[in-house]
Amino acid sequence: MSDAQSPTDFDPVEPNTGEDFEPVDVFPDSNDFDLRPGADSCFKCSVCDTNCPVAEVDDDFPGPKFQGPEQWRLKQTDDDYEIDDSVMSCSNCMRCDNACPSGVPLSQMHNTARGEYVENQMSKTDLEYWRNRILSNYRLSASIASKVPRLATWGMNFGPARWLMEKTMGVTKERDFPDFATQTFREWWAERGGADASRRNAQQRREELGLDRNADKKVAYFHGCYSNYNTVDVAKAMVRVYEHYGYEVVAPEQKCSGTPMFANGMLEDARRHAEVNVSSMSDLVDQGYDAIASCTSCSMALRQEYPELFDIDGIEKVSSNTFEAVEYLRIHEDVKEDVQEAQVSGELAEEFAYHAPCHARNQGLERQSVELFRDLEGAGIEDVGESCSGISGTYGWKEEKYEKSMEIGEEMFDHMEHAEGEVGMTECPTCAMQMEHGTGYEIRHPLELLEAAIVE
Ligand code: SF4
Ligand code: SF4
Repeated sequence: MSDAQSPTDFDPVEPNTGEDFEPVDVFPDSNDFDLRPGADSCFKCSVCDTNCPVAEVDDDFPGPKFQGPEQWRLKQTDDDYEIDDSVMSCSNCMRCDNACPSGVPLSQMHNTARGEYVENQMSKTDLEYWRNRILSNYRLSASIASKVPRLATWGMNFGPARWLMEKTMGVTKERDFPDFATQTFREWWAERGGADASRRNAQQRREELGLDRNADKKVAYFHGCYSNYNTVDVAKAMVRVYEHYGYEVVAPEQKCSGTPMFANGMLEDARRHAEVNVSSMSDLVDQGYDAIASCTSCSMALRQEYPELFDIDGIEKVSSNTFEAVEYLRIHEDVKEDVQEAQVSGELAEEFAYHAPCHARNQGLERQSVELFRDLEGAGIEDVGESCSGISGTYGWKEEKYEKSMEIGEEMFDHMEHAEGEVGMTECPTCAMQMEHGTGYEIRHPLELLEAAIVE
């Protein structure tokens, strides 16, 4: 990350000029819990260390090579070996996975070690444990806050309360809590008529498109927590875009994807949530649905982290049938051509400074938004480079990590400020928080622009 590039010599990533989009086979061996082959593949090149954004700003963090294969070996050779507490400083950005030329399953090793550290070594009476647990279980706090959304938004940003939260719990007071939606996505979805309404809309649209009214086009939407409780417009855009292409959408019972829990070593919490998600999604996969997520960390969890960490009936089926929302459309529809023929006006007729989240990079999706929207009339999009945003979910919300998080994000902030537009774009809700916090820009999701471009 960090290169010594100044904002003025920043050379934005050029879009891929290939005509056809090929999905990347990201997880070929993910059904193997034995970490020995992975550890043995490490030839100590240290490429992972040089790509770790935390190691770059935190001199006390020994880096992914130590957290992964080295610590794993120490553990195998000494029964009394205790996991180094520095594993809690890994933000689970997963950039090291991408960087390793030898395919060492670094994040799987980190998640396993972190889970062991929290389970066996961390005091359950420590405030840090409870702070991490509360941050990880955002879904629970958000579901309570959504009962009184305006009051919750005000209360969570009330200065004295924030000061107290920082002093007692170690949650930074520097960030603004996101607004809670006055109507959650699931409330909107139910009011609109749920899956039955979506089926009717899809059938009508298929007729308009000259398709078989009963064509087999159906997806199960994993909206995650943030699109349900905060950025509801993203979830609505996802539904409207998919129905526009004649897809029937269902929104099955679901819990948190587990992403913040993995990063905090709360593997038992993550397992409980994963069991619900896998059960819901695998039943639907059996009925011919594919699982679609609008958040790249959610799709990452279902695709990679679940099968790496848990043995749950149906997990492989869910993993291999999960896609990120725009990725799926690029594979199955002529979405690029449709965007090329479209035009946007109104509030989304903007120049966007686009940041690809680390977890999108891990799925091979870092260029898709730039490729998709580069020819859209009325809007522009500029990639702001490869750096990590620095927030990594809960990492940047911890008082002791806040400054490091902002230091990691500095390169992205600089590049955003030197990009033509003053509106940001990304697929990850916490990257969006960091982008907004560092620049003051409004941040939009690619699905919102896609909706504005193609849905009447
Ligand atoms: S990049 Fe891979 S092979 Fe190189 S030190 Fe890191 S884990 Fe080992
Ligand atoms: S997941 Fe990210 S923070 Fe953690 S060791 Fe790997 S690169 Fe560093």
